[in-house]
Amino acid sequence: MTDLISNINDIREDIRQAAVKCGRDPAEIEIVAVTKTVPAETVREAVSAGLRILGENRVQELTAKYPLVEGAEWHLIGHLQRNKVKYITDKVSLLHSLDSIALAEEIDRRMHSLGRPMDVLVQVNIAEDPNKYGIKADQVAEFVKTAAGLRGIRIKGLMTIGPYVSDPEEIRPVFRELRELAEQLKTMDIPGVEMQHLSMGMSNDHTVAIEEGATLIRIGSAIFGTRK
Ligand SMILES: *Cc1c(COP(=O)(O)O)cnc(C)c1O
Repeated sequence: MTDLISNINDIREDIRQAAVKCGRDPAEIEIVAVTKTVPAETVREAVSAGLRILGENRVQELTAKYPLVEGAEWHLIGHLQRNKVKYITDKVSLLHSLDSIALAEEIDRRMHSLGRPMDVLVQVNIAEDPNKYGIKADQVAEFVKTAAGLRGIRIKGLMTIGPYVSDPEEIRPVFRELRELAEQLKTMDIPGVEMQHLSMGMSNDHTVAIEEGATLIRIGSAIFGTRK
């Protein structure tokens, strides 16, 4: 518990310093606490310590912990299979990983019965890593235009996963490209599309991500310790 609190305070301090360094308001940046493999009891402690947004990358883990944790909202940050959309429509406040039109159509179909849209981010595979999901940067504008036509989703921004490198400075161009892409999309004024969020930066590279404009940083191990 004390570890948890001091870890959270460290991240908050990182946010403050990185924001000040680049002239941003620290309040624009929110922590998504990534709780994969973390037991529900520890997740509850994190919520008591003030974390309000929880992120899971697997549907099954999210739906298992969802009823056990109060006072927080859940984001799905990992790849979502179409046949699992139905399990999360009433649980997830933001999907970070919209990565295909087929998925967008399935979400659209499922949200009709709830009478409201789902907020989503488009996952962009900036580095064109064959092992990662996401739309290629040069196809994002087309993708967003098509997906924006579906009333059951509301596009709120972009997300990317940086390549794993030992020096976070190496990731800076990736984060910068995501921000530039969002700026470009803003100027296109596509109806129903807002570029409110940039979800980028994890435990080892969140400082660089904030300097490049992140509004949501997805932090797992720096809060909960190394996953086994
Ligand atoms: C696990 C995960 C994270 C958090 O990673 P850490 O390095 O533990 O902070 C962030 N984003 C996604 C998509 C993840 O799957």
